[in-house]
Parts: sequence; C-alpha cells; structure tokens
Amino acid sequence: MRCILAALICFASAQLLAQAASPAVEHSSEIVLKTDTAEILINDEVLVSGREHYQFRLAAWLNIESLLLNGQEVRPLVQGPEYWLALPDSNTHKLQFTLRGTVPARDSQQGSRPGMLSSGGVDGFFLPGYDAWIPQDESGRISYRMTVTVPSGQRAVASGKLVSEQVIEDVYISTFETVNPAEPPSLFVGPYQVTERLSNGLRLRTYFHEDLVPLAETYLEAADGYIQRYQQSIGAYPYSDFHVISAPIPVGLGFPNLTYVGRQVIPLPFMRTRSLAHEVLHNWWGNAVSVDYASGNWAEGLTTYLADYALAADQGREAAQSMRIKWLRDYAALPAERDQPVIGFTSKQHQASQVIGYNKVAFIFHMLAKEIGQAAFDDGLRGFWQKHKYETASWRDLQAAFERAAGQDLDWFFGQWLLRSGAPRLSLGAHSVNQDEAGFRTRVEILQPVTGYRFQLSVSLTTVDGTRQYEITLDDTLTRVEFVTPAKPLYFQADPDSDVFRRLHQNETPPILRDVTLDPEARTLIASNDADFSGAARSLASRLMDTPPRFENLAAAQQPGNSLLLITTNARLTEDLKLLGLERPFGLPKVAYSAEVWTTRRTDGVAVLVVSAANADDLKSLLRPLPHYGGQSFVLFEAGRALSRGIWPITRGALFRDLKP
Ligand SMILES: [Zn+2]
Repeated sequence: MRCILAALICFASAQLLAQAASPAVEHSSEIVLKTDTAEILINDEVLVSGREHYQFRLAAWLNIESLLLNGQEVRPLVQGPEYWLALPDSNTHKLQFTLRGTVPARDSQQGSRPGMLSSGGVDGFFLPGYDAWIPQDESGRISYRMTVTVPSGQRAVASGKLVSEQVIEDVYISTFETVNPAEPPSLFVGPYQVTERLSNGLRLRTYFHEDLVPLAETYLEAADGYIQRYQQSIGAYPYSDFHVISAPIPVGLGFPNLTYVGRQVIPLPFMRTRSLAHEVLHNWWGNAVSVDYASGNWAEGLTTYLADYALAADQGREAAQSMRIKWLRDYAALPAERDQPVIGFTSKQHQASQVIGYNKVAFIFHMLAKEIGQAAFDDGLRGFWQKHKYETASWRDLQAAFERAAGQDLDWFFGQWLLRSGAPRLSLGAHSVNQDEAGFRTRVEILQPVTGYRFQLSVSLTTVDGTRQYEITLDDTLTRVEFVTPAKPLYFQADPDSDVFRRLHQNETPPILRDVTLDPEARTLIASNDADFSGAARSLASRLMDTPPRFENLAAAQQPGNSLLLITTNARLTEDLKLLGLERPFGLPKVAYSAEVWTTRRTDGVAVLVVSAANADDLKSLLRPLPHYGGQSFVLFEAGRALSRGIWPITRGALFRDLKP
C-alpha cells in the first residue's frame, strides 16, 4: 500500500508486511458482506507448514466465532493485539476460522488512517490488507483464493487475479486469487459500473461510480499505454489484471494490480497522466518487488524517477531540468534539522520526507544514469527485476544489480548519497583570463567545501564563438579547471543543466512571484503618474501581497536590502529598470503580449517582482488571474489571459562567472 497524493498523510503499516522469507501460508476464504448493515462473515481456511506455532493479528472489530485446528475446536492465546496458537509439529496443518463483525465506518477526513466510507455501504467499502481483516501472520507474502458475495447492485474487487464472477439472483459473486505469493489481499466494494478492456492477455478495468463512467475509456487507454511502456523497458507486467477503483474518500492508494483513487480526483488531468503512470509502475517497484523497509524505501524514488520524471523528460530537456530545479528548490527550503539520510526514509508521513524519499532519491537515479551511462543503468534495472521479482529487495540488492551491469564498484556512490544527510555545496573561487600565443587561457577554481563527495560535473565555457560543455569529476574541495580557446571567453558556468543534487545558494534558487508576495518586508513601487493606472496598481498590489503593501517612492526602492514589487507601464519599463539597476531577463518567450510579469534578483540576492502593462485596463485584467501564479518566475498576459509562464532555469547564480574584463 502506498500513498500517491501529496496532500495526504499516510501511515502505511508496511513494516508489518515486509519480513524475511517465512514458511508458506495459503488462505482460502469465503466472504459474505451485507452492504446495508456492513455485517461481514468470513470463513477462512489457512494451511500452514514449516512452523510449530501460528501467531497472527486480527482486526479488533472481528470476532472469532470458531477456530478449528485439523478439525478440532481450539482457542488461541491472546497476547495484546496478537493471537498465538501451538501447532502439533512443523508439518502442514489446516486452520479453519469463522469470523464475524461489522465493518466500522472511519473518519474519512483524517488522512492518517486511509479508510472508510459510509458503513451503510452507499458509496463503498474498503478493507485494506494491512488491517488484518483475515488472520495475518508475520509472512510477508501469502497465497490466497477468496470468493466474495455482495448484493447484486454492488461489485466487489480485490487485489489478485479475477478468476470468475457471476450474478446469481440477488447476489454478485466474484473470486480472486494470487498467481505468485503477494501481500495480504485488499478488498473494495461499491455500487460500481465496470468498464473493461482486454489487452495482450491483460484484463484492465475501471470500477467507477456512475458519474465517472464517461472517463473510463480514457483511463483504460492511458493505463494500457503505461503498462506497455514499462513492459518494454523493464520486463513483463507482473500480474494478470489492472484496475482503477473510485473511492468515496479523498485517498490515492496503490495495491498490487490496482489503484484506489478518490472520486473527486479522478476527473483531474494530473491523475490520469502522472499519478496513473506512477501507480502503474508501482506494480513493478513496490508490489512485485517489495521493499525491505528495514534498510530504507528505494521504491518511491525509483518510481518517481521512471514515471513522473520520465514523463517530464518526454516533454523535452527543459521540462526535465525544471523538475530537477524544483526538487533542488524544495530541498533548499528544507531546514537542516529536518534533513535525513535516504536510508532513513520508509514512507511519506509529511512533505519533508517526500523531499528526501521521493525527490532526492529520484535525483540520485538521475546522477547514477549519468555516472554509469544510460545503457548500463537500463541493464541494471532489468537485471534487478529478473533477480528479485516476487521477492523483497533492499538498497543493497539494487546496488549489486547496477554494479553488475556497470562492471564497477559503486559502494562510494551509494554510500555518499544514501548514508549521509545533507548535500554537496558548490561555488566558484578565483578566475583569470590571459592571452598568450596559444590563445585565451581561462582558469577557474571550483570550490566544494563539504568533503567526501565525488560526482560528475558539467561546466560550460561561452566564448564569442559560442558555448561548449565539458565533463569533469569533482572529488576534492578545490578543483582548478583550465581552458585554452582561440576565441575570447565571455562566461563560465558550472552545473549549467542542474545535474547535481546539491544545496543551492540563495542567489541560485530561481525567484518566483511568491518570494516577493509572501515577504512582509517587501516594498512596492508604483512608477506611473497616471491616476487611473496608479489606482489599478494599488488594487493589484493589495491583491498580490500577502500582507498590506508598503508603498515607497523611487529613492526608497533604490535602497538595497528589501525585496521589491515594481508596477509600471510598458512604455516606462526600460527606464525604470535602469533606475533600479535591474536588467530585463533574457529568457522571456517571444510572443505578443500586453502585460509582462517576471522576477529577478538584485545583486544582493533579494527578489524583485516586476509587473508591466500597456495601460490601466491591461493592468486591471491581471487582478483576478495573477494571484494564482505565485509559483512561477514569469507570466505573460494578453488581455488577462496567461499566454506563457515558467520557472527560470538556474543560471546567473553562484556558479555563473562573467569573464569579461
Ligand atoms: Zn508512489
């Protein structure tokens, strides 16, 4: 089970599920759920072997009506939440449970316990495997076959292969089983409409509430595409089914061969693109290869890298770089005391753990691919998959697979990125440019004060003839690079594509609108004498700023130290920028627009937000839309409609050096 929506807090009892190999356990269960009263009757037959006692957990709302051991009534010992039963010997024994209870309604607003739903069964029932609604022992993976009976207006679906289903008179009966041992089954029941697509031997289904049925085909098409994509790059899809199930509660959860998603979220575009790809991919990473949580969770970061990040990379290099910059920016905002080593991450419990367990880990895979080459990286993944399919695997297993594929020891790589918290820091030291008979000789010092890191670093040199990029290995606190070029050098930059996971300097974090609008110390300068325009500008400033704007004159705005909101007209913009010692950014898209909004930094690093419009009407047209773009570095508008927006690449920060004399 995993959480897929960032807004949710989710405590997976993953540790309870993941254990070293245990002797085999086979369940065969008959389940009858009365959806009007939420009463459930479970007959579960368990075959156990290779052990001399059977210790199990059971949901507190279930009563053991009877328990037979090899046909004889027995009473297990109760030890806290656990039950314990002596077995005659370690041969195979049959346990027969009869369990009865009322499925409890859960508070759907408390994300801490992803649960239910109305117990009346109006919208659905959710019985996650980790709740131990069938007896759960310490085995990580079990085999099961279960038949579920619900009223005919309802549909039941569980993790596992759908073996059969039928409606007989007033009941719907369906049977599910494992093909390979898996985590304990999760069961979902609701008034669902089922839409199905068969694709290359796979059964894809949506179990949607009626209002969502028009989206079913789009979901099946998308899921099919993702499954084929990952089959090609990793290996055959490990199950026979994949289902998307709509949840009456605001969750986003993944289980083997299915995903359970809040019905409010299903219509949102990101759900059937990024989130669905992520969830489909978890069937390889997290489900079929499960995580050895004792040594940290590698699956979230790997899935983020191969799903969320790969989809961004499909859009082009800039989109991929933007995602890396966003990760670095988020990491830069993480207070040092909340940082932790990667191996300390097991599941997402707050945003800080996402910054490490998802984003930093995904970034580590990006650097690994660069370190060993894409071909070795892909081979390593396929090898890891082949070796650990239907098993539990650790970071060590992953390292071993990449070492085999790359033919090199990677202990240094995994050690520095997994075992320590923190990240490298980079800056530039002295530089010089001299001209001799060979041409222009450019020397630059690269400083890396945090010891013990080694990584590939791209550096670029721009001369009057153009820009060239070079790869160097950094493994010392001071590295000197030297270039001899026939053409005159203009700029030097280290890590121009943001390929290294590192702690950004403040002047490298690309400024976004919020850097100014959330700053209570920010000053606002309205550079117009036109009454209509000034009035509109004051209204806009009030809407944009989180705290009441502090209006200042030009002389005060010229003082360094405070962030600044400048509102001006297109006609005056160039002059105003000059007065404030600012430059218009290079990177604004070349489109026709009536208003431009962008951020920059002053030489002292504080952020400046510039809003420039053709006239008062164009400025007024920003009142409504502009406050929604706080996370952007720039937005261009035409008559109040956003034409283009984005976050600046990391450019002229601490790793950029102007070489001109
Ligand atoms: Zn995930």
